Order: sequence, then C-alpha cells, then structure tokens
Amino acid sequence: MKTIRPEDYRHILFFTGAGMSAESGVPTYRGAGGVWRSYRWEEYACQDAFDADPEKVLRFHELRRKSVLACQPHAGHEAVARLEGEHPQVTVVTQNIDGMHQRAGSRRVLELHGSLWRLRCPQHGIREDIGEAYRRYRCEDCGNWLRPDITWFGDMLDSFVMGQAAQAIRSCDLFVSIGTSGVVWPAAGFPQAARDGGARCIEINPEANEMSSLYHESIRGTAGEVLPGLFSS
Ligand code: NAD
Repeated sequence: MKTIRPEDYRHILFFTGAGMSAESGVPTYRGAGGVWRSYRWEEYACQDAFDADPEKVLRFHELRRKSVLACQPHAGHEAVARLEGEHPQVTVVTQNIDGMHQRAGSRRVLELHGSLWRLRCPQHGIREDIGEAYRRYRCEDCGNWLRPDITWFGDMLDSFVMGQAAQAIRSCDLFVSIGTSGVVWPAAGFPQAARDGGARCIEINPEANEMSSLYHESIRGTAGEVLPGLFSS
C-alpha cells in the first residue's frame, strides 16, 4: 500500500462514519446486526417518542451507552489521534455518536450527529454525562426531562457544528473518508465539497458505494488494517 507523507498537506481532515467503529464492536447502521434491525427508531429515536415516554427512551440510550463502553477504540482510531499530535492541523468530522475518537485521544472532533455522552435541558443547555447509567433523567435546576444530545430521526442538524464542519472541509487539502456509506445527507455531500475545494480525496472502505467514484483513490480495506500504516514521513 502506498503511504501518505503528512508533511505534504497543510490540513488533514478525517471524515468518519459507522464503519470506523465496526472493528471496535459498535454495530454499523445498515449492516447485519445494525441497531435499527432490532429496534424501531419510531419508538426510541425521535422527538415524538421522547415526548411520549422519556423514561423509555432514556433507558434505551443507557443500553447503547453500556454496549459502547464495553467496546474499545482500535488501532485506526489511535493512528488518527497520533497524527493530531504530530501534525499542525488535523480535524475529525464524524457522524458517529459513540465518542471513540475522543477515547483514543483525538481532540479536534466535530460531531455532526451529537453524542451519547451528553444530555440537553431545553432551558439550561448541554450537560456532559459519562457512564453507563445517566446521573439523572431530569435537570437539577428546573426539573425538565433531559434529552440525549443526539440528532434523532426528523431532527435538524446543529447549525453551529455544521458551519464549523463546512469551514474545515473548505480549508482541508487532504480529505480521508472512512467507513461511511455516503447515504445520510447532508454529510453525504462532504466528499464532493472537499473535492470542489481542491482537496485530495481518499476513501477507506472494504466495499464500494455510490459515492466511491468521487474519490481520487479508494483503499479497499478496513479502518483498523489501513490507518496504522497509511502515514509515514
Ligand atoms: P453506514 O452503516 O450506513 O455505513 C457503514 C459503512 O462502513 C459501509 O459503507 C461499510 O462498507 C463500511 N465499513 C464496515 N466495516 C468497516 C470497517 N471495518 N472499516 C471501514 N469501513 C467499514 O454508516 P454511516 O454512513 O455512518 O451512516 C449511518 C448513520 O448512523 C450515521 O449518521 C451515524 O451517525 C449513525 N451511526 C453511528 C454509529 C456510531 O456512533 N458508532 C453506529 C451506527 C450508526
């Protein structure tokens, strides 16, 4: 496999999807074992479900937190985090909500779809909450139900995070997409935006998909196999 010299690039951006965490044991979305094959999102992952039965939805998210905490970041997450320590500008833009990049040591991570590790009070804003069980289901200041800070089905994306991601994509000169099927919009438009901005675009995915032709290069392997050997000076 050809290696990339990080010093040839000013700003390296990793764009990750569910496949990035697959080797850690976090199920992908569409593949076999995907979470929405076992649960109906209408009952657990939309505002209407939360309004109807907040405790049921919070308990479901506690199960997801427990299963993610049982998983560990893999060598691919570690390679991404290591590069951030060695290169002046590395950004991770992720569709994942599992916090694996941060657990591996990445600091500049833009989470497009929120995080399993945060809750949101409609009046008092975001609360970090890490652990299997939530510390509390209701805001200690106002008593409102705390909602997982995740982009559920039917939600708008966080415009501030989207703006930061768009800016990072415009400014990067190497765009490395890992483990995304490219069907969830607007994130699916990012490879084209990076390419239009002049970045070299590389895909790491064991399988081709309809977005694959947008990339200058597609590496057919898994994140854990490919990333540790991808960069060398
Ligand atoms: P997706 O499930 O639609 O696609 C996963 C992609 O990863 C596929 O193209 C598959 O070929 C590839 N893949 C599988 N194993 C891989 C590996 N080991 N290395 C590299 N690639 C691999 O995922 P998506 O495009 O991210 O879209 C799904 C949505 O679901 C996202 O919005 C995301 O927020 C959410 N989601 C998040 C998580 C998580 O936080 N870990 C898990 C499932 C779904």
